[in-house]
Amino acid sequence: MSDNKREIQKKIIELSRMDELHWESVCKCCGLCCLLKHTRRTQGTFYTSVACDELNLSTHKCNVYNHRLQRINCAKVDMRVVLRGGLLPNTCGYMEYIFGPAQTPIQVDFGTVKHEHELEPSDLDYAQAPFTADIYRRWPGPWDYLIPASLQWRTRAIELRDKYEDFGYMVLRHMERQKQK
Ligand code: SF4
Ligand code: SF4
Repeated sequence: MSDNKREIQKKIIELSRMDELHWESVCKCCGLCCLLKHTRRTQGTFYTSVACDELNLSTHKCNVYNHRLQRINCAKVDMRVVLRGGLLPNTCGYMEYIFGPAQTPIQVDFGTVKHEHELEPSDLDYAQAPFTADIYRRWPGPWDYLIPASLQWRTRAIELRDKYEDFGYMVLRHMERQKQK
């Protein structure tokens, strides 16, 4: 096993063992995971320059952090989300914990980011419509907010999913068994 692979596995184990306080301290509060995302079957998940209404665009912090999980479009970033890939940018604190500092920081001008409620009704219809062939025909339709380079932001998340997901789940299952003892 290469040293690099061993090092990444060590970091995955460390993250999996973290208590809540330590886990939270790894988050850089960059707010990037609170941008809405749009998934295309063939091309994956893109970020948009539209943020959840609860994201403070100046501080990049959540206005309702302690109650955020009551929102339908919010999910806790836990080890499963980290391992699943596709959601977190290369500069996410959890990605950097595992892989080290990202070489290509994401450039997002939060001054141009809109909140969900600022979208035009037609955009909202489009965003909330079931994912049908019609959506593909209309692509990109009113989604002027897509950040096309955003696929490249997630190379680390994809590497984690493709190479380390099984290992990570094995660690998580081990941790769960330990807790039950
Ligand atoms: S509710 Fe969730 S998605 Fe929305 S800003 Fe808060 S943490 Fe981000
Ligand atoms: S992208 Fe990562 S570091 Fe940034 S707010 Fe989300 S979980 Fe925290």
